[in-house]
Amino acid sequence: MNKESIYGLTFEQLTDWLMERGHKKFRASQVWDWLYRKRVTAFSEMIDVNPECVQVLTDHFDMETLNEHLKQESADGTIKFLFRLHDGNLIETVLMRHKYGLSVCVTTQVGCNIGCSFCASGLLAKSRDLSASEIVEQIMKVQFHLDGAGKEERVSHIVVMGIGEPFDNYANMANFIRVVKDHKGLAIGARHITVSTSGLASKIVDFADSDLQVNLAISLHAPNDELRTRIMKINKAIPIAKLMQAIDYYLERTNRRITIEYILLKDVNDRREHALELIELLGERRQLATVNLIPYNPVDEHSQYQRSEKESVLAFYDTLKKHGFNCSVRLEHGTDIDAACGQLRSKQIKKDDAGRSSLALG
Ligand code: SF4
Repeated sequence: MNKESIYGLTFEQLTDWLMERGHKKFRASQVWDWLYRKRVTAFSEMIDVNPECVQVLTDHFDMETLNEHLKQESADGTIKFLFRLHDGNLIETVLMRHKYGLSVCVTTQVGCNIGCSFCASGLLAKSRDLSASEIVEQIMKVQFHLDGAGKEERVSHIVVMGIGEPFDNYANMANFIRVVKDHKGLAIGARHITVSTSGLASKIVDFADSDLQVNLAISLHAPNDELRTRIMKINKAIPIAKLMQAIDYYLERTNRRITIEYILLKDVNDRREHALELIELLGERRQLATVNLIPYNPVDEHSQYQRSEKESVLAFYDTLKKHGFNCSVRLEHGTDIDAACGQLRSKQIKKDDAGRSSLALG
């Protein structure tokens, strides 16, 4: 039986857990410091923590439940990690280098049930949610990698945009954020953390009401229901009007800016008429929204979609700009490795499956 991972506990939970076992409150601060500031990899290295406390932690918790299975490094410094979970499942985590710092894109589920028609991750249905610790551990593994390189680099930004729909795993996603934000530990600023959703309206409302206070990105990808349902089947259950209501609630409640993600698919949603429809749809929300245009990374499995021409991307961008929108085109990372989200994982799973069937045949 696997032990629980220590990385799943928030500071408050760790404090309560230790105090329930008769340990003083300050032990939690010591342990937290060893975990997230000094970043040891074994409880026995926590040398100023009393031996009984070290023993009780060792008896109940693990410090490693993710194993690095594969690592791909791009010429631009992007690194894709493929981790194997204790149950054998594979997940992807990506480290990206930006001018403003080092950002990590984390996965929140094994597979995804949202089924966006352009997505390599959505090809594999969700088999389970990741625990909070499995999400935190992705950050820790990347940070250990950076620590090992000895350049004193720190993960400064997090995007919750990897495989899975984070709001379909809300409680674990929320605890993950509480751990990485904690100022006594990794202390990653709330403004440096972005959670991206395909548009689960009721969870957007919960998120607005929560203590999390991190950034929100909405994967919109189309300006009308007909097109959006074609691209993202979630739109059938939660149409654009419902999504916009939730966005309005979020904007009013938090007064924070949001990002609207819009993946550009050649001749599908990238024409001028789509840009004008998007402008109409977002209306006055443009004051608090940034539209992030994402040139599509083609994947073999979705050959119906191609990448938009450069001219179409620029024309779309210009149209939004002319109408007073804050707009950006996502810079590409790791184009020389399996760049699309979920691509490395699905390739590896196919390879494993092929290996298994040839073994079975042999
Ligand atoms: S784009 Fe995101 S929400 Fe849509 S299927 Fe892929 S992982 Fe799921």
